[in-house]
Amino acid sequence: AVRRHRREGVDGHTFLFGLSDGTVIDGSRGGNSARWLNHACAPNCETIEDQGRIFIHTLRAIEPGEELFIEYLLAIDDPANKEVRAQYACRCAASGCRQSMLADAA
Ligand SMILES: [Zn+2]
Repeated sequence: AVRRHRREGVDGHTFLFGLSDGTVIDGSRGGNSARWLNHACAPNCETIEDQGRIFIHTLRAIEPGEELFIEYLLAIDDPANKEVRAQYACRCAASGCRQSMLADAA
């Protein structure tokens, strides 16, 4: 998955979702609309893994037309230098924004 992402991915843009057993779901290959969920540091949805599938659950009532967000908590293999971290910067403007979509910035 990492090799494919490096070959085909756009910097800072991924449809990969890692499962607890190390399996990776690649939403760019036949994935459903959940692959378009954006990141927010104060998300209105969470992901729940069940038997190799990911389910999106809302954390509160969602108004019609409201955008859905999850917290990405991305992991990267490369050393996270300043340039790499800048690719994963968060600008969600939530109070308490972590300024990053990376898990190690949590
Ligand atoms: Zn944020």
